[in-house]
Amino acid sequence: MTGRSISTISKTSLSIVALAWALTVGGVAHADILIKNATLYDGTGKAAVKGANILVKGDRIAQVSTSAISAGRAQVIDGTGKFVMPGIFDSHVHVPGGQAGPVTDGVNRKPANNRAEAIPALHAELYSGVTSIYDSGNNEDFIYPLRADEQAGKVISPRIFVAGGVISVPNGYGAGVTALKATTWEETKKGLDAKLAKKPDMLKLIRETQGQFNTKTVKTLTDEQMKQITSYAKEHGVRTTVHASNELNSQASIDNGITALAHSVRNQVLNDSYIKSLVDNKIVVSTTAVGFAMTPPALKGDTSILDGRLFKAEMTEEELAKAKADTLATVKSGAVYVSVAGLPYARRNLKQLHEAGVILSSGTDRPIGAFTHVELGFLAECGISAFDLIKIATLNGAMYVGREKDLGSIEAGKYADLLVLDADPAADVKNFQAINTVIKAGKKIDLAKLEIPINQKKK
Ligand SMILES: [Zn+2]
Repeated sequence: MTGRSISTISKTSLSIVALAWALTVGGVAHADILIKNATLYDGTGKAAVKGANILVKGDRIAQVSTSAISAGRAQVIDGTGKFVMPGIFDSHVHVPGGQAGPVTDGVNRKPANNRAEAIPALHAELYSGVTSIYDSGNNEDFIYPLRADEQAGKVISPRIFVAGGVISVPNGYGAGVTALKATTWEETKKGLDAKLAKKPDMLKLIRETQGQFNTKTVKTLTDEQMKQITSYAKEHGVRTTVHASNELNSQASIDNGITALAHSVRNQVLNDSYIKSLVDNKIVVSTTAVGFAMTPPALKGDTSILDGRLFKAEMTEEELAKAKADTLATVKSGAVYVSVAGLPYARRNLKQLHEAGVILSSGTDRPIGAFTHVELGFLAECGISAFDLIKIATLNGAMYVGREKDLGSIEAGKYADLLVLDADPAADVKNFQAINTVIKAGKKIDLAKLEIPINQKKK
């Protein structure tokens, strides 16, 4: 059905006009879908509902019920023995293709605009069940047109929420060409106005002084600067997240008006007062534990995690071989030292935050969907139940970007982003990978047509 436009059809006959509703901008068939008799995890934290029927109309969920729903003209998916949960939200991604060079080295970080690098990564997200991502800092000339094309249905992709370029200070962490480097308020405000005109979904600030192991100490946003930026964003109805890696900088960020954290603290034991301020201020924390889960001590020297089905599907053999070698390589950079040393704290803190009632949202800081399942596996190892991880992987991501009224759970009126799984995700976190069907905006994604290595190998 590809390539048929609405205009071609409407010319033929009036009786066919009814068909037009079933077509999207891209001309792809867009029938209603009825999932029958599945076990439903709606993403809100509600217990499993057996025998659930879910009707999707257009791009929204129309009805969820244990009573029979008439299929009408909807395509029926038999959910018997299957499990339905919302699509996964990765709250920390940098879509590849927009920038090159290490984030710790601002001067050498260059903007790029390589759509060809982005597409396979976005397709790999969908393949892994990720239907929304928050791009936590990128080249604006690259990410905004990509978001526009995603929203217009011109590219097959998860929903893309964006920060644009991050907000740092001259020579600070992440202060590459694409970053806004805050100086005086007058100058900073000009930069912010330009940013806000592009309608970012949530701004990303940097509060990072580094100085651990062999990383050099750098200047960062001051309390005053953060306060000015977060209140200005708030006046414009825009949420803010922050890169901070220790409790001191995290706490300062919260005290200066930040609404979310792009990482959890992983270099120290947490103070109760800090945890309380996360709870009291309803701060949503992106977990980003892959960097800890993929270190040699966490893997006990065994890289077979990269032999998993999703990695094999989403990476070429060369990429996999390189990833294995890199994972086990001698720890050379300061950033990796931080991850190795921080491993026990990362584990302890994530569990402690969850038990204290902090809103965690799974985020990877990695480019492809397979890493989402490493992230979730690590969170399970930390002691978070697979059942709780369903909400952490879905609704809490929507909360991270402030879009929970529209997204993130399976309730009538919300966007129809959902997964049909062949195994029970609450029984074992590995079952999040048992992906049978991915639906985004009410449309079934043809997993066999995604531009990822597994489908190219078949050609
Ligand atoms: Zn990041």
